[in-house]
Amino acid sequence: MAMTLACRDVGVDCPHVSRGETEEELMADVAKHGKEVHGYTEEQLKDPEMMKKVKAAIKTE
Ligand SMILES: [Zn+2]
Repeated sequence: MAMTLACRDVGVDCPHVSRGETEEELMADVAKHGKEVHGYTEEQLKDPEMMKKVKAAIKTE
């Protein structure tokens, strides 16, 4: 079972889909991608509103 998060589902116009076997793994990939590609800072990624948005968009396959 894998967990995925599509950038599009959090309102970002980007075809990337992050994946992980666990929420921890997924969030690590999301953070890495968010920083490298979208230029988010650690603070922006840890913002409670952002976390809420991200967690609501996680899909389990
Ligand atoms: Zn993206």
